[in-house]
Amino acid sequence: MTTSNASNGSKNLTQRIVIAMIAGIITGALLQNLMPDGSDFVIPLYLFDFSLRGFLVDGVFEAVGQIFVASLRMLVVPLVFVSLVCGVCSLKDTAKLGRIGGKAVGLYLLTTVIAVSMAIAIALLTSPGAGVNMVADTTFTSREAPSLAQVFIDMFPSNPFAAFAEGKMLQVIVFALLFGIAMALAGKAGERLTVIFQDLNEVIMRLVTILMNLAPYGVFCLLAGLFTDISLATFGNLIKYFVVVIGVLLIHGLLVYPVLLKLFTGLSPKIFLHKIRNTAIFGFSVSSSSATIPVNLETTTKKMGVNNSIASFTIPLGATINMDGTAILQGVATVFIAQVFNIDLSLTDFIMVILTATLASIGTAGVPGVGLIMLAMVLNQVGLPVEGIGLILGVDRLVDMTRTAVNVTGDAMVSIVVGQSEGQFDQSTYDDLKAGSDIEEIDFHHLKD
Ligand code: ASP
Repeated sequence: MTTSNASNGSKNLTQRIVIAMIAGIITGALLQNLMPDGSDFVIPLYLFDFSLRGFLVDGVFEAVGQIFVASLRMLVVPLVFVSLVCGVCSLKDTAKLGRIGGKAVGLYLLTTVIAVSMAIAIALLTSPGAGVNMVADTTFTSREAPSLAQVFIDMFPSNPFAAFAEGKMLQVIVFALLFGIAMALAGKAGERLTVIFQDLNEVIMRLVTILMNLAPYGVFCLLAGLFTDISLATFGNLIKYFVVVIGVLLIHGLLVYPVLLKLFTGLSPKIFLHKIRNTAIFGFSVSSSSATIPVNLETTTKKMGVNNSIASFTIPLGATINMDGTAILQGVATVFIAQVFNIDLSLTDFIMVILTATLASIGTAGVPGVGLIMLAMVLNQVGLPVEGIGLILGVDRLVDMTRTAVNVTGDAMVSIVVGQSEGQFDQSTYDDLKAGSDIEEIDFHHLKD
């Protein structure tokens, strides 16, 4: 397989993905204005009427976008399993595993508490719900919060194949950890298997790179399709709520993470923000931390220099239990709903919100829209009407995209901190702005040298 260097004058992959994102958003917005739904541009043909909007939005954009998301999801379970088994095998010491897990979970919880506390504070200062008069859309149905005991029980798969098939990430992680430990303890047989797993890991990572190369098309179609529906003009009463949530999300992603990274590691925040762009755009486009695992794993290991033994564990774990962006949504939405319904919340209520928002994120996988289900748990906890969620449904698509970008950025940041503290981090890779770009460009016409 030949590779062409990113510095050969043509645009590198990140630039192409950024351009695709912007072009997708502009195309969607233009289509929405030039060909609004209903008032279609229909071209009468001999046998049937040809609808240009239908062809583009429901045809090309929908198909390419969905195929792109499905292809990313396709890689998640095999990649997490194989790379985590490799990671555990290379650790050699199970005590280390406990320490890494402890640090990762501790940092994930810490960043979530910071996120939700900041969200509540800013929402209280800006009062997004004051004076808003709205009727809730009651079509939203809530779900019971699982007990903490149930969350732990659910981490252990009774059937690993069912866990694989259903994409239950915590169960896949637990099975991979146990399998990796057993392999490390299995002497010669384990060593033989390790070689096979390492090769498999290489091949699957290659598949990730191939998909990354096709990402500009996928990202363009996904965003062009989505932005034909999203219009800021229809936000009406919700505009203040929307601006506050997005504002807090941006502060957390662009300010809090870089500051925490600097404090914990002394590394350059600028390089971090530069290198995380691809991953954040993926998260934004597909609204799913889970589907972004392959890209995030590639970014943290190949571009940021975190060893696979750490990243293969912390990234999938973070995609499942760390959702700072979602916690921010919950903080702002709780204050907003309380204000709209004129209900006063006490300090204890706010502490409950912080605790529930943090714990709720542990048991729920990072997939589109799940933040609202978690929000229902938070509202129940403090006695706010769950129908309140109906109020914010209308703008949640864009909020979901943005909070997912924040969620995946947090996973990468924590992985670097844990990696560096464990001596499993290569600073020269981190500092090299071109790291990883040599393997990123694939020439599909020449599969072999
Ligand atoms: N879509 C988010 C994620 O995958 C979860 C959410 O709905 O907040 O991270």
